Amino acid sequence: MILDFILPNRCLQCNLIIGGKDLLCQDCMLQISFTHQQFGRDNELFDRCSPLFPLENAFALMNFQQNGLSQKILHQLKYAEKEYYAHHIAEWTIEKLSFENPPDLMVTIPLHPKKENKRGYNQLHLFAKSISEHFNIPLDNNLLKRNFYNQAQAKKDKNHRENLYDIFSTTREITNQHVLLIDDVLTTGNTMASAVWEILKYQGNKVSILTMAID
Ligand SMILES: [Zn+2]
Repeated sequence: MILDFILPNRCLQCNLIIGGKDLLCQDCMLQISFTHQQFGRDNELFDRCSPLFPLENAFALMNFQQNGLSQKILHQLKYAEKEYYAHHIAEWTIEKLSFENPPDLMVTIPLHPKKENKRGYNQLHLFAKSISEHFNIPLDNNLLKRNFYNQAQAKKDKNHRENLYDIFSTTREITNQHVLLIDDVLTTGNTMASAVWEILKYQGNKVSILTMAID
């Protein structure tokens, strides 16, 4: 493209001109703290979440580095309209991910519609779509819907039943499915837990989780 000559592709971090459509130059790629852990049970994400809910397998691509490169990328993905970063993160994920028993369905954690309207996109949709197409696993971005903005709001709600686990509802019934839940960064695990319990309330379901990063 002519634009490639006018506006060459540059490394997001150091501004070096790089070929192709990569996000980072080779040196800056090395600054990303990848977990280098497999989709399975022998990893930090699994250890963190298995006390919170029944879990088949887990995978986190990166360690969330405070003030580091993974934080910068995820922050721009969420708040600086860099939706296409999700495609790069998906490519890194696909390189490192393999399934012995592929899940039946991928499901993204929803934003509250107000938040999604403000941002114009859910940063997980493009990420999940790339992975779903690569592994040929169906994707449902609408299975879960968010009842509250966040847990603070949920707690304030007068009709709220002293139960943090109803941030989400399901929009349809699913049974006997192995669901792979997708989120960006896992911190406390409470959001993920509410989504997981919502899916596990139906018969025969089991859940694995995949996140871009673990904090
Ligand atoms: Zn660079």
